[in-house]
Amino acid sequence: MDCIFCKIVAGEIPSTKIYETENVYAFADIEPQAPFHAIIIPKKHIKCADEITAENSGIIAEIFEAIAAISKQENLKDGYRIVNNCGRDGGQTVGHLHFHMLAGRSLEWPPG
Ligand code: 5GP
Ligand code: ZN
Repeated sequence: MDCIFCKIVAGEIPSTKIYETENVYAFADIEPQAPFHAIIIPKKHIKCADEITAENSGIIAEIFEAIAAISKQENLKDGYRIVNNCGRDGGQTVGHLHFHMLAGRSLEWPPG
């Protein structure tokens, strides 16, 4: 499958690892939008939030457990933002479910 994030999980495209568990991988975004910008993904390919079902939704809990662990690991005491872009209007550019974790500056709300 021609998926950038599957290739990152497989080690075929290099990435800067931030955190890893059996089913979850987190790495530094190549184009950071904040001083800290991690991408957190399921190792198994899921296209986007629309493909979450009763059968695979356990991975979402694992991803948020990873997020809490990363917050502690990186000492993100002032907070952070989790973003999931889904589909064209959501601004999704990589078709492998992922969550952005942004921190290190005050983030505007609402987003553009
Ligand atoms: P999206 O726009 O789909 O929500 O987010 C995709 C993110 O993946 C973007 O922030 C982009 O900078 C990041 N990205 C795309 N290709 C690569 C890559 O090859 N390596 C890394 N580390 N990040 C990537
Ligand atoms: Zn993939």
